[in-house]
Amino acid sequence: MTSTSSETLTTGRPDLRLDDGDHERFAHFAERDKVTEAMVMGTPVVALCGKVWVPSRDPKKYPVCPECQRLYDLGPDGRMDEWKARQES
Ligand SMILES: [Zn+2]
Repeated sequence: MTSTSSETLTTGRPDLRLDDGDHERFAHFAERDKVTEAMVMGTPVVALCGKVWVPSRDPKKYPVCPECQRLYDLGPDGRMDEWKARQES
């Protein structure tokens, strides 16, 4: 006789998908000075991905925005190229 056979494990976790409307759930990258000021003043900043958001005091609570991460990894030169290409298209 087993006591575990009737137990079904269900997770109550929401399905975290990378939808466009989910920006508020991410921690974005932005200029450090601007982020610091924004956290003090409560003003929004423009993230690398173009999202205007108010940085959280506790960014570790949120997963890093994949678009910001990608742009961050490109480095300054890579970002410049990307932004230029975006404006030209
Ligand atoms: Zn972002």
